[in-house]
Amino acid sequence: MSKQKMLQFVSVAKEMPEKREAEARAHDFNEIYAEYADTKAAEQAARCSQCGVPYCQAHCPLHNNIPDWLRLTAEGRLQEAYEMSQYTNTFPEICGRICPQDRLCEGNCVIEQSGHGTVTIGSVEKYITDTAWDEGWVQPIKPAEERPESVGIIGAGPGGLAAADRLRRAGIQVTVYDRHDRAGGLLTYGIPGFKLEKDVVMRRVAQLEEGGVEFVLNCNVGSDISFDAIRGKHDAVLIATGVYKARDLTGPGAGAAGIVAALDYLTASNRVSFGDDVPEYDSGELNANGKRVVVIGGGDTAMDCVRTAIRQGAESVKLLYRRDRANMPGSQREVQNAEEEGVEFVWLSAPQGFAGDPVEAVMVQKMRLGPPDATGRQTPEVIEGADYAEPADLVIKALGFEPEDLPTLWGEEALEVTRWGTIKAEFGTHATALPGVYAVGDIVRGASLVVWAIRDGREAADSILTYLAQPASVAAE
Ligand SMILES: Cc1cc2nc3c(=O)[nH]c(=O)nc-3n(C[C@H](O)[C@H](O)[C@H](O)COP(=O)(O)OP(=O)(O)OC[C@H]3O[C@@H](n4cnc5c(N)ncnc54)[C@H](O)[C@@H]3O)c2cc1C
Ligand code: SF4
Repeated sequence: MSKQKMLQFVSVAKEMPEKREAEARAHDFNEIYAEYADTKAAEQAARCSQCGVPYCQAHCPLHNNIPDWLRLTAEGRLQEAYEMSQYTNTFPEICGRICPQDRLCEGNCVIEQSGHGTVTIGSVEKYITDTAWDEGWVQPIKPAEERPESVGIIGAGPGGLAAADRLRRAGIQVTVYDRHDRAGGLLTYGIPGFKLEKDVVMRRVAQLEEGGVEFVLNCNVGSDISFDAIRGKHDAVLIATGVYKARDLTGPGAGAAGIVAALDYLTASNRVSFGDDVPEYDSGELNANGKRVVVIGGGDTAMDCVRTAIRQGAESVKLLYRRDRANMPGSQREVQNAEEEGVEFVWLSAPQGFAGDPVEAVMVQKMRLGPPDATGRQTPEVIEGADYAEPADLVIKALGFEPEDLPTLWGEEALEVTRWGTIKAEFGTHATALPGVYAVGDIVRGASLVVWAIRDGREAADSILTYLAQPASVAAE
């Protein structure tokens, strides 16, 4: 491949990888963006202005060496680009697909700020590591030496897996426990295939298994095995259990049949994609086919639900959100994708109650944005007399998640939590109040992002290595 000069942003326009037509992609769960052709990846990487102070890197939670791997890609030195990329990121091809780049690296790209359109950092990151997989450069972990110490990790989501990878590379014996039958956490059962195809996650799990990480699946810590027993089996423990207590709806009729929780709905759909038997899908309970679907919420989960419903063949799909488009937490790029696929966004609207059992309609209150509150965010206010009934056969609640009460569930009152119920862990080391116990990801941050869970997992692994290297008397303090 020819060597590309950098700083091409003045003459080369920003170009994302080809996006499949909305009509075609609305019928399957495959990803919507194609891979860059080699020449296109090099051309787009060459748009980077190689800033002295790269804001993209500063705003990437992993501080990826973005300008350097862009330059290596532009020069066709892909194996070196891959090595540099995976040095700071355990799962670059996953982040390249699902990070909200507009809020992180790409949103802070200097050429974006100067009006030329950002370098397509996420798509190049994905391209580099997908190429590495195709070329056989991604290999199972082979530690230089085996060490006797063992670490138990509770939760096989991105936080737990990133820590498992790093600890195993250091030769530690790693066991990952998860209550699901497959590893991956929300990468496997939350995020739909049209954002992240499942084989991309499963090949990482297989790589870890081949590298000696032991997975104990279908194992709910707190019922199948006690937290205490896990502490007794291992020299250190990492809690990476995520947040799963769904916020609920109140109001008349909220308990009617046909009103379902977002994660139940998405998990069923993801299981169908794996080819599993899913009775709740076959019975229609968690299947939008032929239905008028209303999704309530404004975050990533709500966006994933509406786009899943379209693919299941819903008659109509509407998303109710109590604020407006500008104040929605979900990614604007995803809003655009959803609109292209036929989702209708009903802004400034909130459910007041539900009619029928099974549900027949959502009673909708219209809202306006009032004056800003103490945080500066405008508060939604009800517009009196503007209520109406929105017909619905399936209502999906996507109002966010809170942590489960782990100290009670696990009978470990000394495990300190914050007033929000998240586990208290020291900034940087991720150490909890219990000696030798660390915590990372959503269970510490509250519902967050994959890239932050990966960062936490990597940092906690380093702290655990330091802890294990201490004399036993110091470690027990
Ligand atoms: C629908 C949806 C879409 C999202 N989309 C995006 C996106 O596009 N981009 C992005 O960056 N982030 C997204 N997120 C957020 C992201 O998925 C999370 O921030 C991330 O997965 C958190 O990682 P984690 O390792 O902390 O926990 P999780 O991924 O939640 O993994 C925790 C694991 O712990 C297991 N577990 C829990 N309790 C126990 C127990 N007692 N015993 C055994 N195992 C247990 C669970 O089964 C699970 O496998 C999305 C979230 C949702 C719900
Ligand atoms: S990990 Fe996420 S934020 Fe960092 S460079 Fe990749 S896509 Fe951007």
